[in-house]
Amino acid sequence: MSGIWVCIEAGNGELRGVAYEMITAARTLADAAGQQVSALVWGEGAKDNADKLGACGADSVVVIETAGDEAGRPAEVGGAVAQLAQEQFPSVVLFADGAFARSVAPALAQKLNAAYVGDVVDVAFDGAPVFTRLPYSGKVIEQVRPASGAATAIATIRPKAFEAAEPQEGRTAGVSTFAATPEAAARVLCDVIRSVSERVDLSEADIVVSGGRGVKGAEGFKVLEELADVLGAAVGASRPAIDEGWIDAQYQVGQTGKTVAPSLYIACGISGSIQHMAGISASKYIVAINKDPEAEIFAQADYGIVADLFEAVPLLTQQLRDMLQA
Ligand SMILES: Cc1cc2nc3c(=O)[nH]c(=O)nc-3n(C[C@H](O)[C@H](O)[C@H](O)COP(=O)(O)OP(=O)(O)OC[C@H]3O[C@@H](n4cnc5c(N)ncnc54)[C@H](O)[C@@H]3O)c2cc1C
Repeated sequence: MSGIWVCIEAGNGELRGVAYEMITAARTLADAAGQQVSALVWGEGAKDNADKLGACGADSVVVIETAGDEAGRPAEVGGAVAQLAQEQFPSVVLFADGAFARSVAPALAQKLNAAYVGDVVDVAFDGAPVFTRLPYSGKVIEQVRPASGAATAIATIRPKAFEAAEPQEGRTAGVSTFAATPEAAARVLCDVIRSVSERVDLSEADIVVSGGRGVKGAEGFKVLEELADVLGAAVGASRPAIDEGWIDAQYQVGQTGKTVAPSLYIACGISGSIQHMAGISASKYIVAINKDPEAEIFAQADYGIVADLFEAVPLLTQQLRDMLQA
């Protein structure tokens, strides 16, 4: 068994930041285990970014060429990775945690009889790979070692958990292509339902504008979206906003939603329950806007604005717009 693989999706001609974070995780394992890093990359702009992956730490790059549309891609990519893994026996295969990985990686693990570890925040190698997870909203540090019977370990990496690998002068990797075949695709059972959104990805965003029950409805989220647009931020939400159907479930932040780690988290009409705060504790600065001065969130926020969000948020949006246009 040899080789640490990173499975990377390109889109709109670019790689997401998490791609370079995964290279860091892969290099950590590969350097400790004396193995090579291979990057498997697909999607729009995969080929154009192959050299960048080599410069940042991949020893080889395989561009997976897919024929189908976006809906069929997970099955095609899953099939291609399975086919390659059955020929080359990697010791570790890494995906970026998210809808794509959650659909493809467990199915792949089942197919390869591999170990599966989700939402990994650190990696080490002491004769075998060791994956660190933070379950129960980070209250427990769990170290997972694949069972001895599992030849390959498949793990999903939490965005922002690792430093992004930087390009190194003169570093290159061999680049090859692999054509995914529909037959291979059919053998991996997976499906991804992805909403088309132009917005910044919540898990990777540097700024998040989030709304809770205080936003009062889908219309209220439009007020937050305007602020998010000015800041180039992602939009998030507390669970009641999702339960009420004001915004899609992919935007939920917290214990049973996404964990975020932005530089700035702006919580609007959110009370600050333990379950919500569990998802935002890695934020650098938390700004709370709440009309109740006793709201729990003020105890944990770095800056608090006691105000009606429907007055404060549009004012903030206008001020920022004026500042940025000046
Ligand atoms: C097992 C479990 C898992 C859970 N997982 C999650 C999770 O992942 N994420 C999550 O968020 N919750 C989760 N919850 C729910 C959680 O316990 C809270 O109920 C929820 O976070 C509260 O959401 P909220 O702050 O939006 O609503 P509320 O607690 O109702 O707070 C609304 C706030 O809005 C303020 N407000 C109202 N109107 C305005 C206005 N006009 N301007 C300014 N402020 C205003 C109010 O003062 C209040 O503080 C979970 C619960 C359980 C039991």
